[in-house]
This record gives sequence, C-alpha cells and structure tokens, in this order.
Amino acid sequence: MKRIYLDYAATTPVDEEVLKEMLPYFKNKFGNPSSVHSFGQEAIAAIDKSREKIAKLFSCDFSEIIFTGSATESNNLAIKGLTANLSYRKDLRSAGSVGADSKFHIISTKIEHESVLEPLKELERAGHEVTYLPIDEDGLIKISDLEKSIKDNTILISIIYANNEIGTIQPIKEIGKLLEKINKKRQETGLLKIYFHTDAVQALNYLECRPDWLKIDLLTFSGHKIYGPKGVGGIYVRKNTPLLPIISGGGQEFGLRSGTENVPYIVGLAKAVELAISAKGGSASGGKNREKRSEYILDLRNKLWKNIIKYNKGAKLNGSLSSRLPNNLNIRFAGLSNEMLIVALDQAGIAVSAGSACSSRALAVSHVLKAMGLTSKQMRESVRITLGKNTTKEEIKKAAEIINKIVKKLSPK
Ligand code: PLP
Repeated sequence: MKRIYLDYAATTPVDEEVLKEMLPYFKNKFGNPSSVHSFGQEAIAAIDKSREKIAKLFSCDFSEIIFTGSATESNNLAIKGLTANLSYRKDLRSAGSVGADSKFHIISTKIEHESVLEPLKELERAGHEVTYLPIDEDGLIKISDLEKSIKDNTILISIIYANNEIGTIQPIKEIGKLLEKINKKRQETGLLKIYFHTDAVQALNYLECRPDWLKIDLLTFSGHKIYGPKGVGGIYVRKNTPLLPIISGGGQEFGLRSGTENVPYIVGLAKAVELAISAKGGSASGGKNREKRSEYILDLRNKLWKNIIKYNKGAKLNGSLSSRLPNNLNIRFAGLSNEMLIVALDQAGIAVSAGSACSSRALAVSHVLKAMGLTSKQMRESVRITLGKNTTKEEIKKAAEIINKIVKKLSPK
C-alpha cells in the first residue's frame, strides 16, 4: 500500500537539494566555526553564506538574521528576550510609559502556537499583563480590537501570520502599517515603541514574508515546515530591537544565541528558505516559483474539498476559505469522532491529523477551535488535512475516495 501523506503542516520531508547541500558539513567540512584554523574558517564561511542568502531573500541586513535551534526557541527569544531587556534597561524606557515596577503589557491572540502562548504565560506569572485578542467565526482577529487594547505600557504585539491548525491568515501587513503610525505618535509623546513580532512558520511557504514589506521587527521561521531539517530555526531581528539572549555562553549569533552553531542544519535551513521563496522551488516542485506552487496546491486543495462536500453534506470547514493558506483544510464531520477517523484513515494509508502536532501525542482539545466558538463535541469531530509541494493529483483523487468511503462507513446512520 502506497501511503499518502496529508500532514504537511506538521512537518515536511527534506528536499533532495537541501539534503545535498547539508551532507558535506557532517563529515568532510566538520570544523567548529569558532576555530581559527582552516577547518573553522570553512565552517564559518558556510554560516556566513547561509545568513547572507536569507538576508538577501528577506531584503534585510546580514546581522538581522539569527539562527536558533527551532521556531519554538525563536518565539521564546522574541518574547522573553524583549521583555527581559526592557525590564533591565531603564535607559530604554521613558518614565511616563512604565510604572516603577517595570510591568509591561503585551498583545497577542488566542490562536497562537504553544511556543508563543507558554512564554506569554510565564510573563504573566512574573506580573506582566497579556491581552489575548479573540477571533471571529472565520478565525480572524479584528484590527479594531487590537487598536483598542493598546496601552501606554504596551511593548510588544505578537501575532501568528498563518495559523497552524486552521490555516487562516492574519492581516500582518495592515497591522504593521497601523503600528508605524502609532509608534510615530508614541515617539512624540515619549512613550516606548511597540515592537511587532510574527510567527511566520506556516506562512513562509506561501506568503510574502519580507520584514520591511510587513513592517515587522521580529519574524520567526522554522526549517522543517519548509522542506528543511528539523531542529533548526531562525529569527529576523530588526536592527536596534533590544533583545536579551535566553541562551548565554560563547556569544555566537551576535551574542543572541550561544552554543556551537549547527552548521549542516543552518546550511540546510538557508537552502530551504531559498527554495521556498525563490523561483526554483526545489526538487519536487517542477521548477515552479512560490506563486505557481501555491496555485498548484490550491487547485488540488479545492478539488479535494469539493469532492468531500459533494459526498458528505454534513462536512463543514472550520475557518475562512478565502483568507486561508492554500494547503489547509480543517473539516468537521458531524457525529464522527476525529480520533476514530484518523486511526481508520491511517490504516487505509492516509495520514491526517487532529490539529497541532506539537502539543502531544494525545488528541487534546484545540484552543484554536475553541477560540472560534466550537463546542467540545465539534472540536472532537474536526480533522486537519494539509497538502504540500510533493502532493500529486493522483494522491488527492485517491485520498478523496478513501476519505469519503471511510466517513460514510463510520458516520452515525
Ligand atoms: N509556530 C508554528 C505556527 C508552528 O506550526 C510550529 C510547529 O508546529 C512552531 C511554531 C514550532 O516550530 P518548531 O517545531 O521549529 O519548534
């Protein structure tokens, strides 16, 4: 049985071209980038080249790209690093905007990935305040809600670009534009700048992520969601954004992330970013650029959705269909347990999931679907299907047949 993988939001296979670039750095070019001799120089040159590559694709400065061990770490660095630094550095704060106790206010959403929500909870435990913006039934925040929640001591807005469970795309560019205006006024009145962070882990494959275009200060990305290796991530940090490291030591990565750099993975990450953004697109994409790849995947995704609703009148899509990543479907099959469906589909060779793969192996209830107003029962009827650049027309045809057959068999009569 040839298995069909439809869980690309959980992770992606490493692209052949990425793997090829990584391999020499495991064995032949194994030097420590901090060593002075030629082995070290070879390794640091590979890191420099990788950083340069990403900086060029992001239209930013070389020193604004920081390599980390995962997107989870990047999100932690953005959130904790900024808050910690502003807490210490009295010179960066205006007396008017922050109380003597240095407690800050942060704005985020109810549908962030756990790697944003958990650091925010830690900050709350330390006495800072966090506003979690709600979403509407389409899975989208309202910019007016965000504007209303800004306070004098707000220092950070962290909003996920595209959601990992329902694929909905938040208006990051519009928020960036609005913040630019708000920050100008704050500067005039002596208030602290509000920094803007986005978790672009799921977005990078499909959406424009150049920081200047988005008007963003901090942007998180991950290797394994873009056909690169697992266990490597990155973050764009705009010049003069006051971050403290969360991992200290030898001072690598401009002092923001100590520890001997993972050279092969950094090389792999840079190649994966290049393939995601540039015209080439990698080994499985037939030379399609990002736009063409998105169109290709969108077409398959729409075919699958049409086919599913044709045979399952009770199937409902969770979240907006229009403001959504082209590869994502999150479907509720009325009366059918997602646990049963996922297991039955897996036995039939089709891999889908119940939502976030990162939480745990158990099918925990989704905070994202809950924020959208779904009942516990509806949440337990929802499955996530995500396509990728390796997905073929034949796979989608076959998957639709099997899904429809199994849903019919398991649905209450
Ligand atoms: N942010 C989002 C939106 C994700 O989907 C994930 C992974 O599922 C992460 C962050 C964490 O990425 P990593 O596995 O690189 O830590």
